[in-house]
Amino acid sequence: KSGFVNIVGNPNVGKSTIMNALVGERLSIITKKMQTTRHRIKGIVSGDDFQIVYSDTPGILKPNYKLQESMMKFVNTALIDADVILYVTDVVEQPDKNAEYLEKIRKSNAPVIVLINKIDLSTQGDVMKLYEYWKDLLPAADIYAISATEKFNIGPIFDRILELL
Ligand code: GDP
Ligand code: MG
Repeated sequence: KSGFVNIVGNPNVGKSTIMNALVGERLSIITKKMQTTRHRIKGIVSGDDFQIVYSDTPGILKPNYKLQESMMKFVNTALIDADVILYVTDVVEQPDKNAEYLEKIRKSNAPVIVLINKIDLSTQGDVMKLYEYWKDLLPAADIYAISATEKFNIGPIFDRILELL
């Protein structure tokens, strides 16, 4: 099994922390390699019978000026060339501010996993509300409530990605 897993979402929701957790989690049984590029950072996780290439993106931005425009190209490309899309949100941000981008995600061919991150900052009731909210918005997606810094629920995401590849 092998494939590309692309991580998208607004700035500051924890995309890079999640990728580090996913790449680092299996460190004892995998070979780990981080490669830094200007716009996308890749983490490669491989075992005897699988290879996953994670791609971290700079975050969704409204393309107000040239640099952001070029960064958004990377984010859009991330939707097209993914085998699995990780859409990251958190318990802090206003969840509905990316209507246009969510429409692209809905139309993508790759399976989508929504990660509601930073649940260590929230109550269980609030997390349940967010879960329902995202279920309505992206009905086809799997949804996980996680904490990247506490490494909570990272293992199940890894297992689900392997299933989807
Ligand atoms: P990115 O911009 O989406 O790549 O977000 P980062 O991975 O750089 O994280 C942004 C900030 O959120 C950093 O200060 C992280 O330490 C923090 N952060 C990430 N994940 C969590 C989490 O699960 N819980 C808490 N409390 N903070 C987190
Ligand atoms: Mg980042």
